[in-house]
Formats: sequence, structure tokens, C-alpha cells
Amino acid sequence: MSRYTESVCKLCRREQMKLFLKGDKCYAKCVFEKRPTTPGMAKPQRGKPSAYAIRLREKQKLRRFVSLNERPFERLVASASKRPEASGEFLLRSLEMRLDNVVRRTGLATSLKTARQLVLHNHVKISGQTVNIPSYGVKAGDVISLAPKLKENVGVKLSLDTAKRLNNRPSFLEFDEVELKAKVTRMPERAEMSFPVTEQLIIEYYSK
Ligand code: SF4
Repeated sequence: MSRYTESVCKLCRREQMKLFLKGDKCYAKCVFEKRPTTPGMAKPQRGKPSAYAIRLREKQKLRRFVSLNERPFERLVASASKRPEASGEFLLRSLEMRLDNVVRRTGLATSLKTARQLVLHNHVKISGQTVNIPSYGVKAGDVISLAPKLKENVGVKLSLDTAKRLNNRPSFLEFDEVELKAKVTRMPERAEMSFPVTEQLIIEYYSK
């Protein structure tokens, strides 16, 4: 599996939007805010981008938001395209409800990378059972909790402080601040999902 090893801030500059890949730093010292130029391009490109380029950029934005390689991302799009409901919305919902993303949205981690680490290191339980698969699909009714020993963890405390300050926990998650657990009350609506992309363009990119 290929691993991206350069600065993740370059990805935000490439996509011309904040992808929030660095957790707390994204709210305090954002590189993209200071330097909003596309990497490697001293001058802005002339002319209108082609329809292909627009779709490609939209796909890359979402793929980078969720830190997935091309192959698994393509597989998700392919399975979403077979669904009877709107494929784009189904794709976004399945990404939103991945366990790593739900952990991030509860505020137990400030970035997807940290959330993924919590899951991979056996610190996250779903309805009492340890689940260490970041791509696990969380369902309505599931209760996400952290291993009790992490209640005093500095990183978790910092994340919870950030979540409190930003006050951006979605309404489909019911969070218990004492027990550090969140109940998924229902599946999210499109407006509650955390990916500001035009999903139809992504489906069109793969249906070429
Ligand atoms: Fe992107 Fe965060 Fe870096 Fe800002 S600080 S450019 S949002 S990764």
C-alpha cells in the first residue's frame, strides 16, 4: 500500500480548501490560510478547467479528506453505484459512518489520523465489543466508547476541549461527557455530513 509521506498541508493547497488533516493545528496555525497558492504553480493557471479536470479535483478532494488510497476508494464508489438509492449520497454516508470518522466526529480525536490510531490500537468499543477496523460501518443505535484507561489521556482531553470550543458535534450523535461515549441516534442527513464536495461529480468521474 502506498503511503503519502510529504507535508499534508500541500494537499490542502493542491485542493484549494482546508481538509483538516492536522487536527488542532488546523484551527490555530493553518498553512493554507497563510499560503493559499497551489504548490508548484507560481502563477495561476489560465483558462477554464475542463469538465474532466473539475471531476478529477472533486474526487481527489474527497479521497484526501478521508485519507484513502485510490483502489479502496474506487471499490467504494463501485459498490455505491450499484445501490438503488442516490449513489453519491450513499457513498458519502458510508464514508461518514466509517468507525474512524465517527470517532473523529464525537470529538475524541481532532483528526482522522488520530481517530484511526485509537481504533487500530484497540481503544474503541462498539456496544461493549472492541473493534479495531477503521472502515467498520457504524449503524444507528451503536454506542461508541473509549477504553477507560484513555479517560486521562492528554491527547483525548485536548481533543475534547477542541470539540467543546468548536461546538460542532453533529446532532445524530448523543455524547456522554462523563462516560466518554456516544450513541448514534440515526443515520446522518446529507447536510450533516462533513464533506463539502459535489458527490455527483465524483460518480460521474468514475462512470466515464
Ligand atoms: Fe490543511 Fe490543516 Fe495544514 Fe491547514 S493546517 S493546510 S487545514 S492540514
